[in-house]
Amino acid sequence: MRENLIRAALDARNTAYAPYSHYTVGAALLTSEGMIYTGSNIENASYGASNCAERTAIFKAVSQGHKLFRAIAITGGMEGAEPVDYAWPCGICRQVMQEFAEKDFVVIVAKNVADFRECFLEDLLPHGFGGESIK
Ligand code: ZN
Repeated sequence: MRENLIRAALDARNTAYAPYSHYTVGAALLTSEGMIYTGSNIENASYGASNCAERTAIFKAVSQGHKLFRAIAITGGMEGAEPVDYAWPCGICRQVMQEFAEKDFVVIVAKNVADFRECFLEDLLPHGFGGESIK
């Protein structure tokens, strides 16, 4: 499954809209039902209106009725080139992941199917703020 997610994330990079940074990112999200939703980064001339690949994938899945996720694979690099580094998720995306993450949600950052790192969201966002905090 990890390899499928990484391949889907690599493919999703091809749909990125990144005319300003030329840094393209692809993400592939695994739902608790076993479906995969992909996303890419979508930039905007008003930079603050840009959206990350991870949130694109998550919002696509949530808007299709999925609200619980097991894992996400992320891959990023300069347009037209293979990734040379791991594309760790930004703080906003970590927060959005937490909202819909199963316990032990896994974040995979990959350069390719053979070169990746994997960790739990809890390690990337310890003591995170979630819905339980405002009940
Ligand atoms: Zn982000």
